[in-house]
Amino acid sequence: MITRIAKEFHWEMAHRLPFHTGGCQNVHGHSYRLWVEVEGEPDLQGMVMDYLDLKAVVEPLVKQLDHSFLCDRADELMMQFFHHNSLKVNYVDFPTTAENIAVHLLKEIALRLKESQSVLVKRLRIRVQETERTYAEVSQDF
Ligand SMILES: [Zn+2]
Repeated sequence: MITRIAKEFHWEMAHRLPFHTGGCQNVHGHSYRLWVEVEGEPDLQGMVMDYLDLKAVVEPLVKQLDHSFLCDRADELMMQFFHHNSLKVNYVDFPTTAENIAVHLLKEIALRLKESQSVLVKRLRIRVQETERTYAEVSQDF
């Protein structure tokens, strides 16, 4: 029977959306919550994937993002700031919306899952929550 398992991760991160006019253009942060769901046919022991293996795949990504600023390379103001200040920053090539972060994490986690040879995983779903009341979700078949 096709079964979906999920694990939750957390990190703190700052960002801004330069194009926004409703407040998100300012530097601010979120307590991000990430749900990683993998779906597949469980093996004879009853596992789609070991939660420890899932943690090993996702945790390095979360640690890299934690207490950093997620900086869109097109954001000249922040690029200039980080050029002159040695702070924890991760550079990306997209506006740092929850939607784009979800797609980014989907791609990164999918790549790592394929490398880890989690052969039973047939579908991956990523949910990124910026606040208690909002999230963005994307999924991909394997
Ligand atoms: Zn925000």
